[in-house]
Formats: sequence, structure tokens, C-alpha cells
Amino acid sequence: MSVTENITSILNELGNTKLICVTKTVDPDRINEAIKAGAAIIGENRVQEFEEKSDRLLPCEKHMIGHLQTNKVKKAVENFDVIQSVDSLKVALEIDKRAEDAGKVQEIYLQVNIGDESQKSGFELDEIRQSINEIASLKNIRVTGMMCIPPYVPPEQARPYFRKMKALFDELKVETQGKFDNIDLKELSMGMSGDYRVAIEEGATMVRIGSAIFGERNY
Ligand SMILES: *Cc1c(COP(=O)(O)O)cnc(C)c1O
Repeated sequence: MSVTENITSILNELGNTKLICVTKTVDPDRINEAIKAGAAIIGENRVQEFEEKSDRLLPCEKHMIGHLQTNKVKKAVENFDVIQSVDSLKVALEIDKRAEDAGKVQEIYLQVNIGDESQKSGFELDEIRQSINEIASLKNIRVTGMMCIPPYVPPEQARPYFRKMKALFDELKVETQGKFDNIDLKELSMGMSGDYRVAIEEGATMVRIGSAIFGERNY
């Protein structure tokens, strides 16, 4: 199957659920094939890799989905429409500062370590509940969603994590709605090539798909 065929069939299947076309390691020509086929949003993991290919890309919305070190925040703010991978208060504070310098309000999602895995980044559940007021005080960011990467398990075993994430999303949505100007939780970004169908059943509004579009990556 070609990239165009894969995009067409995935978009058909997704319906109203948004597709993030994950383009890490993919060259600009193949990314552009995906954009032409209807992929409106691309997701990249590394600021540097993205910068190297960004000027060859057709117009599209750009999301950062990989772990962000504070020394890369400035460039991320310059390059991305949405930073989905905001995984600590420290990174949120740095984004706020750099966005102010750039004269921009940066749209972000909050990443949650929903499987409570020591090697994975993301806010812990209690931590995010505690941090939300401080995040709400940052004037140069706007929180419009949440994202998670559950433990690497078969799709059915990922279901409870997606469910837990949806419950947290709903809880924080109710808690923040109408209370903070800069928090408006709309998007729940969860599910990848192997488990996006389960994620959608559990309430994802947005899925991040790479290998099911472009084939297996070499790393
Ligand atoms: C690579 C990646 C994806 C896509 O993974 P596939 O299994 O190739 O679909 C989604 N989200 C994040 C954060 C990623 O790093």
C-alpha cells in the first residue's frame, strides 16, 4: 500500500477523530505525499530533525510530540503550532517565558504518565492536579488538550490506561471549564498505529499514527 492509500483508508476509518501523521525519520517527499492525500497535521519528535526538513514541506499544522529539553524550548516555540509533549511544570514555565519573548501565545497539551512508568516522561496524576492552578497563571500559553503514551502492551491491555486517561481528562475539564482563561480542554491525544482503534473506543479525539502510514521505522 502506498502512503496515499494508507492515509485515505485511515482518514475514512477515523471519521471525526483527528489524525496526527507522525513523520519522524520520514523524508520531506513522503511527508508531502501524505499532506497531499489529506493529512492536515504532522507530528515530529525532535526539534532539530524537524528544522532540517521543515522548509521543504507543504503547508500543514505542526505538532511537537517528543520529549522536550528546556534548551530546545525556544526553537520548539518558533517551529510548532502545538506542543503536545509538555511533561513537567518546568517545561511549561520555560515555554511561557520563550513564548513571551516571541510575542506568541503557545498552544500546548499536557502529557500524562498514565502508566506511572519510571522511564517515561509526563506528569504524574497527582502532580497534574496540583500543578493545574500554577499552569493557569501562565499568560503566554494556552492549554487545549492532554496526551498520553500508555505502557507498550498489546492493544486490549492498553484499554484500561486509555480509560483512566479519559477519566482524568473529563475530571480536569470539568474543574477548569469557565474558571481559567487559558485552559480549554478539547483534545485528548492518545493511540498510535497498534492501538488507535481501542483509544478511539475509549474517548480519544486525536490519534498519532506513523508506521501504519509510512511502514516500519528502522529505529
Ligand atoms: C512515534 C510516535 C508515534 C507513532 O507511533 P507508530 O507506532 O509509528 O504509529 C505516536 N506518538 C509518539 C509520541 C511517538 O513518538
